Amino acid sequence: MADQAATCEAFAAELPRWIAKGDFQSLIDRLWELGYRVIGPTIIQSAIGYDELRRVDELPRGWTEQQSAGSYRLVQRSDGAWFGFNVGPHSWKRYLFPPQSVVARAERQGDWWQLHDVPDDEPAFAFLGVRACELAAIAIQDRVFLNEHHTDPTYQRRRERALLIAVNCTQAAPTCFCTSMGTGPQCSAGFDLAITETADGFTLEVGSERGAAVIEGLPIRQATADESAVAETERARAEEQISKRLDTTDIRNLLLGNLDHARWDDVARRCLSCTNCTLVCPTCFCHSVTDVTALDDGSIDRVRQWDSCFNAQFSYIHGGVIRADVRARYRQWLTHKLASWIDQFETSGCVGCGRCITWCPVGIDLTEEVAAIREVPS
Ligand code: SF4
Ligand code: SF4
Repeated sequence: MADQAATCEAFAAELPRWIAKGDFQSLIDRLWELGYRVIGPTIIQSAIGYDELRRVDELPRGWTEQQSAGSYRLVQRSDGAWFGFNVGPHSWKRYLFPPQSVVARAERQGDWWQLHDVPDDEPAFAFLGVRACELAAIAIQDRVFLNEHHTDPTYQRRRERALLIAVNCTQAAPTCFCTSMGTGPQCSAGFDLAITETADGFTLEVGSERGAAVIEGLPIRQATADESAVAETERARAEEQISKRLDTTDIRNLLLGNLDHARWDDVARRCLSCTNCTLVCPTCFCHSVTDVTALDDGSIDRVRQWDSCFNAQFSYIHGGVIRADVRARYRQWLTHKLASWIDQFETSGCVGCGRCITWCPVGIDLTEEVAAIREVPS
């Protein structure tokens, strides 16, 4: 998907366009007409998650969230903003790399079994409201699932057909640290369209030929200089609000050189090994595969489902669990995410979205864990 970044750059010189809020429904209608299944932010179980979207009034208009370590609360805004929130418990990985999928099926044919693939039949997705850190997370998962050694067919089919409509953040949560990871808050690459919300409408940037084709004929005009300036101010506010930092200086060697640090014992006393951090993380990709036999004995489904390095059974191998205690499991997660991921994929596994901080039931903050190790190396 390197082409997508290059395409965004090619369109970057174009002046932003403008779509009024009153006309935004026409964009959603157009996406459905073109055969896309539109997925966007909406309120699900008292949080802002991602689900199918057909009307603008399904967006969490007028809502925002308060996030901190181990805490998330929805609160109403006074300004009625449509995208005035940051990231919630869902990420786009649930659509590109679904939590559970049947990857193969064996069917009884008399006294023998025939194994065949189960083709993915999802229509093309249009993701509406992808944040800068999430564009970066998708680019990281591209390296995992579309690499030269192994291409995952489900991921590839969904990813290649997906249309990405990004939204620039106009505020930041206390848990965000995208600036430390170089992933945000402004969307700079990897999108087909990118919008910035202002009071009456959105400035809109085109990032690809596909994005340009989608908006053709819609009530969209060039943005005025004032509209562009207001959007720029909105984007700048998000960056100013980011206070959390992760010092990434030589972080690979820092972590791998401190595998016996006392902080691993400290965090193990707090960590519940609940797996939340890995499930909400937009880049974690661990999964397990199970064969499930139908009750009538006529078929066997090979089911892939999200798993986690925090599950003891995940490291079970020929008669034993390799990472038997929480200390080993937390250390595995953090050192993989921030250190050995770099060896494997030439990128950090973290985009600074802060989800693992918010959704950790005991409020463990990976930036604090790294800082503690940096402060007193073993
Ligand atoms: S490790 Fe945490 S902050 Fe980093 S990408 Fe995953 S959920 Fe986001
Ligand atoms: S760090 Fe927090 S979210 Fe992750 S497994 Fe431990 S308790 Fe659960």
